[in-house]
Amino acid sequence: MGQLDERTFESTVAAGCPACKAATLEIKSFIDRRVLLMLADPNDAGRWVHDGEKFVDGTYSITCPSCKHTVFESDMCPRCNAAGGLANALGDRSRLPIPKRCPSCNELELLALALVPATARYGGGPSPKPQPLAEYGEPGHHMVAYACESCDNAVVTQKCPLCDAPGPLRPRP
Ligand SMILES: [Zn+2]
Ligand SMILES: [Zn+2]
Ligand SMILES: [Zn+2]
Repeated sequence: MGQLDERTFESTVAAGCPACKAATLEIKSFIDRRVLLMLADPNDAGRWVHDGEKFVDGTYSITCPSCKHTVFESDMCPRCNAAGGLANALGDRSRLPIPKRCPSCNELELLALALVPATARYGGGPSPKPQPLAEYGEPGHHMVAYACESCDNAVVTQKCPLCDAPGPLRPRP
């Protein structure tokens, strides 16, 4: 499990800001993004493929956009819970190199899965879509795995994709 369980997350978000009573809170979380790559360049902006449980699991900060009060924050790695790992997760570039072509069949197109920091506002209306805080190639945008749909070759990073701590990684919800 991450640093917040779903019940704690739900009650924290439902309560709004304890300082100024605003209903809307800003959540930051590392969540799953699928990116299609052609010759190691993104073919599209990618799309989110997380669910609500994974959003809660990756949460590392909850703040109030109105008064800047910090409701929750943790510097642990959001993926493996290593102490102080958040700084590496946000500051480092992806450590899993994506080849230009599939190493086994030479296909040009690869499907990659990334963990990307995102922000979303909760409360006071329907939840908007998370906005990515890092794009492909920027610090914080970490490749977790890539796969070739032509030959089913797949490569998954064995260390923590966010902070580089050695595996095995804790299970995610
Ligand atoms: Zn506030
Ligand atoms: Zn292949
Ligand atoms: Zn980690």
